[in-house]
Amino acid sequence: MPANGRSCCAIPRDDRATRRVKLGLLIDLDTCVGCHACAVACKEWNGGSPVSGPLSDYDPYGAEPSGVWFNRVRHYEVGDYPATKTVNFPMSCMHCADADCVTVCPTGASYKREDGIVLVDQEKCMGCNLCAWACPYGARELDRASGTMKKCTLCVDRINDQRLPEEERQPACVMACPTHARFFGDFDDPDSEVSRLTAERGGFGLMPELGFEPVNRYLPPREPQPLVGLDDARALIERGLASLASPLIRR
Ligand code: SF4
Ligand code: SF4
Repeated sequence: MPANGRSCCAIPRDDRATRRVKLGLLIDLDTCVGCHACAVACKEWNGGSPVSGPLSDYDPYGAEPSGVWFNRVRHYEVGDYPATKTVNFPMSCMHCADADCVTVCPTGASYKREDGIVLVDQEKCMGCNLCAWACPYGARELDRASGTMKKCTLCVDRINDQRLPEEERQPACVMACPTHARFFGDFDDPDSEVSRLTAERGGFGLMPELGFEPVNRYLPPREPQPLVGLDDARALIERGLASLASPLIRR
């Protein structure tokens, strides 16, 4: 077990030969605060990576900057007032077990490794965009500067780098998350941290009905706590219990 207490990605070579490995990410929607640190760390690491980089920016200092990102964090408001909650939803490639992005690729640039990671060979990609149309998760982005397709690599150049300390052989997004809402591991290993947390907390894959068998999992946000309504709060105040009521009022 690494120093940070998390199970690491390192899969013994012998095990890889005897069973399937399904590397992926587990994201806790209950503790994700939507800070985008994962997205920025991803862009920083992979932008300089010989595997995937550069990740081009378009008009970076202009009025409408944009660019290629592997990981984008979206924000949703759920529930009915006053019991509402903001859900921050990071999305990247799900490294699907049955990935149409791979099967539609006419050049063989898109491929799936034995450890489950889906990659794009930048030398073979001709930027036809078929894979982006095939992906239901919007996980692929065409780099207009290079004319090739870019997507999450699960930081293959970190997780397999034996020169790094074992606790750092994790995707950059996992390393950067300040609330430890992201986990990395083998979903085919029932004893891995990602499998255990998924089983304990009802982890789910996104849109399983589409049949792509996404590997990444999400831990659901917990239900909003029951709130004291305004009428109840007024009644408490009127009864001279303002000091008791104030910490119970939530906006
Ligand atoms: Fe392919 Fe999209 Fe699945 Fe990633 S999420 S493996 S790009 S289909
Ligand atoms: Fe294959 Fe590249 Fe076309 Fe995608 S854009 S289908 S990776 S050749």
